[in-house]
Amino acid sequence: MSDFSSSLAWDSIRATEAEVDWVKFVWFSQCIPRHAFHMWLVMRGKLLTQDKILQWDLSRRKSMNMMCCVLCYANVDSHEHLFFECGFSSQVWSLVRSKGNKATVDSKWSNIVDWLRDRATSKSADNYVSRLIVAATAYTIWQERNARLFKNHARPPDTVRNLILSIVRYKLMGVKLKNTDRVRKLLESWEIHSDGVIDNGG
Ligand SMILES: [Zn+2]
Repeated sequence: MSDFSSSLAWDSIRATEAEVDWVKFVWFSQCIPRHAFHMWLVMRGKLLTQDKILQWDLSRRKSMNMMCCVLCYANVDSHEHLFFECGFSSQVWSLVRSKGNKATVDSKWSNIVDWLRDRATSKSADNYVSRLIVAATAYTIWQERNARLFKNHARPPDTVRNLILSIVRYKLMGVKLKNTDRVRKLLESWEIHSDGVIDNGG
């Protein structure tokens, strides 16, 4: 038990040190707080996925088979798999990624994180939207996984995609962005009229 405790403490210290690396694209200005908190859990690998539960609970491991992913039934329920290497998740990701400016980023979480990290200090509206989309997708995939696991309620990828985009669109409708041609064009692509934008030019 002491090994277990000290390794947990060490993991916690290491995670705190590494946090500065990704905190900028997890907690950013005008983020969606519940999505940001969820992203923080994903980045630290703190979600209670089945692989983690079974890893610490050896008695359960002996008595049951490793529970598989309820989104695809083809792999283990783990962080790496759910975000978004899972067949279902990667399908959703490929449906939403083109709405940001990251159409070429594949569904591997480490590649998405690298992409976000490279643009972590950018204040462009495009990158703001990309951060919203990644966080909303991770959050909604986790919600879908929980709905299937605990409520036996499953939605197809198209429905999940529409939900993610409607959450991001709703956020964009209420957000304060500079009234530039680029921002107007971006909002038009989300079918948001420019009269909702604050005009900083007076
Ligand atoms: Zn899966």
